[in-house]
Amino acid sequence: MLYIGPHVSISGSISFALDRARELGATGFAIFTKNQRQWKSPALKDEDIASFKAKMKSYSYSKAAILPHAGYLINLATPDEELREKSLNLFLEEARRIDELELELINIHPGAYKEGSVEDGIKRSAAMLDEVLERHPNIKVALENTAGAGTILGSSFEELEKILSNIHASDRVGFTLDTAHLFGAGYDVKADPDKVLDSFFSIFGADKLYGMHLNDSKVPLSSNKDRHDNIGLGLIGKDAFMQIVKRKEVQNIPLILETPNEELWKAEIATLLGN
Ligand SMILES: [Zn+2]
Ligand SMILES: [Zn+2]
Repeated sequence: MLYIGPHVSISGSISFALDRARELGATGFAIFTKNQRQWKSPALKDEDIASFKAKMKSYSYSKAAILPHAGYLINLATPDEELREKSLNLFLEEARRIDELELELINIHPGAYKEGSVEDGIKRSAAMLDEVLERHPNIKVALENTAGAGTILGSSFEELEKILSNIHASDRVGFTLDTAHLFGAGYDVKADPDKVLDSFFSIFGADKLYGMHLNDSKVPLSSNKDRHDNIGLGLIGKDAFMQIVKRKEVQNIPLILETPNEELWKAEIATLLGN
């Protein structure tokens, strides 16, 4: 089955995310587990956790259809000791929330190495992932590919492979492919989405695709920029997305819309689901 839906707000209570997703006809969705721009947030309340789990059951959302996104403050590859400590603590806190909600996946960016060598950055990113995976044996990490500006890691399949090969618990690490980031990084998902996916699968195998972010792009191929657009309104175009959702490898994994105009989400979901 296709698990398609947007990144919904947790405003008011994390359990409201499920109502928002259901209202849109979403069969899957993404959330932040806390305010994504703050280092500290109050702990999840027991009643909110209970309500989240009850709604998962009554609305028939399985954990396989939900792809929480880690906060933007975390930099897995930072060379700065203090920032590393803060990033690790925040990532551990988010992993704890995934456990509390009885979810499994967490989507995170590979980080930016800032200075020094790419190789050292890759090692730092892999080491922090291992630290969190070791302390949270029930979570799986979906590393998101990036558009690749500056020292941001993860814009090529080769680099993602290097990160993976440095992780001990690599059996619990896979990838989220963001179509806008692919396009920005030079993978032409407009011209031939099947070819891009096939080249990913030839390196990693189908079971390493943990999820996708289905976003059109406001910026051109190989721009190394990250500007999302709604499906069909950007430079990738609707046909590519319709082709992607036909692939058997994208069945039963979360396919998330991170498109800017929420007014269009309902229609985007219906179109992609073929309704
Ligand atoms: Zn992301
Ligand atoms: Zn994304």
